[in-house]
Amino acid sequence: MPVVLSRRASFLALLPQVFIEHQRRVPGLESSTNSARQSDPAHVRTRPSAAEATRSRASLATSARTAPAGSSARQPRPPEASRRGAGTGSAAAALTVRRAAAGHLARLARAGVRGAAPEHWYAITALSDPGPAFAGDEQITISPSQVEAFTTCGLRWLLASAVGAQEGGPNEYSTMGKVVHAVAEMAGADDGISEVDVAERLDEIWNDLDFRSTWYSEKQREQATRMVDKFLAWHRDNPNEVVALEESFKVDLGRVVIKGRIDRAERDEQGRAVIIDIKTSTTAVPKDDLARHPQLGVYQYAVMLGAFERHGLIEPGGAKLVQVGKAAFTARAREQEQPPPGEDADPDWPKKLVEIVATGMAGEVFQARANDKCRTCPVRSCCPVHDEGGQVGD
Ligand code: SF4
Repeated sequence: MPVVLSRRASFLALLPQVFIEHQRRVPGLESSTNSARQSDPAHVRTRPSAAEATRSRASLATSARTAPAGSSARQPRPPEASRRGAGTGSAAAALTVRRAAAGHLARLARAGVRGAAPEHWYAITALSDPGPAFAGDEQITISPSQVEAFTTCGLRWLLASAVGAQEGGPNEYSTMGKVVHAVAEMAGADDGISEVDVAERLDEIWNDLDFRSTWYSEKQREQATRMVDKFLAWHRDNPNEVVALEESFKVDLGRVVIKGRIDRAERDEQGRAVIIDIKTSTTAVPKDDLARHPQLGVYQYAVMLGAFERHGLIEPGGAKLVQVGKAAFTARAREQEQPPPGEDADPDWPKKLVEIVATGMAGEVFQARANDKCRTCPVRSCCPVHDEGGQVGD
């Protein structure tokens, strides 16, 4: 049964209602990063005993609610034969163990121990709100990065971005990203920038950072210097005119608003807009996924909608990821380019993508999709696709 997640519900109350439609893919995203894996049943973990586990948990909850006061503390230890039987599936032994567990839970609940009372258990919490995530007339604001996040995994988007279980505090990767972006902005604004200027700027930034130890700070500084050098070499060889740096944009489409911030907008020799996104990550986007990379696609759609008209940029001429981290693979920056939508078999694909994602975000069901980033997912412990999160779905 599909279950509804509401923006008004509390985070924990939402968890048991997560419904996984493992194989249903968002139409129109055939080239998205994990599309091939999503269509492969081997990549989706299922729980054949989920219904059974739910019945079992409900039964235990009933026992815990009805267990007599103090019963657990005085529960006799199950006979040896019964304990052995519990391991071999003996119904009588299992019942004994169940009663003992229920007694203990009842005692803990009466003592006010958090999580002991069945009313607090994720899997039997009542549905908090059956409505959609957005009210009918509420505006849906989406950003290019959110479009990418949602297409990768709807559940992660909901819990990590929309509900607020954020990705954690600043880490070394986001710090490194900010450092490189700060230098990139300075270099883009001043063609005459020297290596001394860059080193001074890096020193300035580094003085404000806390890496907790000198050796680690030095190690990170070396890495930042390598990334900055790659970027500067790329910047010097880049033939396009830099038009905008670190600029925010907003496009109002009525129910949907696209808001974002670009690292850099350039004008190519044909006067078209080329949007640049600088990446410091360790993994590159697979070549086959670039043509319909969601984030780049939304940038290009924003150009078409006039987001950079003030700079005379109204026609998209492509968008690029500039990889300066390990994903560059070499000592030089690596460009990963998406052609203009007009060169795609379906020039309207970015528009359709935004419509599909906005509809999905405003919906009632959010799919968990196993993907390459599950390993570092901040809400994995709440995700029924994985063993760690099974508690909220069984
Ligand atoms: S662990 Fe994977 S499938 Fe689960 S929410 Fe996170 S990204 Fe989605």
